[in-house]
Amino acid sequence: MDYKNIVLPAKKSIALVAHDNKKQDLLAWCKQHQEQLMAHTLCATGTTGSLIATETGLPVNKLISGPLGGDQQIGALITEGKVDMLIFFWDPFEPMPHDPDVKALLRIAAVWNIPVACNQSSADFIISSPLFCSVSTHLVPDYDAYITNRSKTQQ
Ligand code: PGA
Repeated sequence: MDYKNIVLPAKKSIALVAHDNKKQDLLAWCKQHQEQLMAHTLCATGTTGSLIATETGLPVNKLISGPLGGDQQIGALITEGKVDMLIFFWDPFEPMPHDPDVKALLRIAAVWNIPVACNQSSADFIISSPLFCSVSTHLVPDYDAYITNRSKTQQ
């Protein structure tokens, strides 16, 4: 895979997701970091987003609820370069009906090399990074090179 550098603005686009047993943890984290989060564009799966918006007043673009396809919506936004970072407090103790979607979201986040926090301490490290609120560069797959190479192998 060829990669290229892209420049991310100081104002990042952040996706927030929490499974039911983790929603209060994510809410507490958002409250704790409300001022820093305010400087960014937020989206979230439906229930997580409603909870955060109601309890903190942060503006959150609410997608479909996770089990109904919200994780896949976030995955699609990542591939389009519209989500720069994922804060996903998933529950390691409960099997989910949408486990394949969860796995797909984590895979696509790895493919597109975006920062992912799957628990509070990772989220704390990410939010305290100087890169969190400054212009930064980010390596992503070079899709033009990928398609050119793929079409050569098909000839
Ligand atoms: P929810 O989805 O925010 O709509 O609960 C999260 C999930 O379970 O993936």
